[in-house]
Amino acid sequence: MITRIKNGTVIDPASGTHEVRDLWIDADRITAPSDHADSVIDATGQVVCPGFIDIHMHEDPVGADGNLESYDERSVFACMLHMGVTTAVAGNCGENKYHPADYLDLVDRDGTPVNVAMLAGHGFFRHEAGCNNRYISATAAQRDRMAGEIREALQRGCVGVSYGLRYEPGMDARELVETAAGIRGTGKLIAAHVRDDAAQIFSATREFLDAGLQLEVPLQVSHIGSMAGFGQMEEFLSLIDEYRRIRSDIFCDCYPYDAFSTGLGSATYDEGWLERYSCDYSVLELCLPEYEGQRCTEELFRRIRREQPGTTTVCHVMRQADVDLAYRHEAVMVASDATLDHGRGHPRACGTFPRVLSRYVRSGVLSLDEAIRRMTLLPAAQLGLSRKGRLTVGADADVVIFDPVHIQDRATFAKPLTPPEGISLVIVGGKPVLRDGEILDRRSGKSVRG
Ligand SMILES: [Zn+2]
Repeated sequence: MITRIKNGTVIDPASGTHEVRDLWIDADRITAPSDHADSVIDATGQVVCPGFIDIHMHEDPVGADGNLESYDERSVFACMLHMGVTTAVAGNCGENKYHPADYLDLVDRDGTPVNVAMLAGHGFFRHEAGCNNRYISATAAQRDRMAGEIREALQRGCVGVSYGLRYEPGMDARELVETAAGIRGTGKLIAAHVRDDAAQIFSATREFLDAGLQLEVPLQVSHIGSMAGFGQMEEFLSLIDEYRRIRSDIFCDCYPYDAFSTGLGSATYDEGWLERYSCDYSVLELCLPEYEGQRCTEELFRRIRREQPGTTTVCHVMRQADVDLAYRHEAVMVASDATLDHGRGHPRACGTFPRVLSRYVRSGVLSLDEAIRRMTLLPAAQLGLSRKGRLTVGADADVVIFDPVHIQDRATFAKPLTPPEGISLVIVGGKPVLRDGEILDRRSGKSVRG
């Protein structure tokens, strides 16, 4: 079964291609030009590039019936597909909604809207090891148990380990080095939501990178806009440069918004957060239907945090200028940090990639080729995925076709699930799965194992 995508502007950062030509797909792989095609897709006037890889997002839950909750419009993986993402890397910030290797098995059993790679979340295994108080250190026996389970999850295909030091204040650098021991020699990734942000971002980043360097694997500093987006970005990026002189595979990711999103009960909102961000309670939105369109008050914050700590919040505190500056740095990838609670949450889940292509490319901050590189080849290389993020012959046929003039995010804080415009076709594993905003197939995605 050979498909010819004709006459598009093919952009493939892996080969340096940027030219109007045809692209050929045979079953689920990119193939060499052929004199026969079973189907033809006209891409005249559009960009044809590798499907985007979202290196930092959070997976859909698994229901009580043991099935993935990924098959309606409110699922985060459906949102990924709307954005042109074909491979999503879940299990970030130390969090897994289910055992990460078992999750990969579910993806292969039932299929998902996009391909799914998984990080083993340290917080998940910390809890499994019986360390249920996030403010205390794990015992030696608990650290041993975590190390064993994380090692096994890596052997079963997780592409790396994630840490949420912010969410587990009781963990120290030794806990990181010991529990990630199984990653040594694998070349897999360690990603971290570091311990602190704003004025404390420098010591927090050094803590993670100094510990991570001992394991000699690629390191990823997660969602830096929400970590250094309070006036620290320039100095933070210099710190990253300093560490990149030691290891060149240290990278960051960032989402293109000036608000972050996290659980109300998380340690982010422990005493002192108002002073840290120099703000009051009105910066917060609670993602609950009864408070839609409202900003928070002190009374509401205290009551809902006590009664419904799992409530998702959106916190409008970051500086846009810092986010803009982050994208000027060559080591900053595009990633969404998407997380949704029954379709409620932050527009980054459905807007991130088109927003970068409109906001930063059309204004000239990033060239189209460079933006695509930060969404495809760069995350694939950092994850060691040699058949993803490229259009070379033999690569997986994950492709996005979009109009570079009209691509535009439409998701807003009021309507976070509004799909973007300008993406005409998304192909996952050789199969067209989204056409003009409409999902054709929600089960073509497979696990991506490292
Ligand atoms: Zn995080």
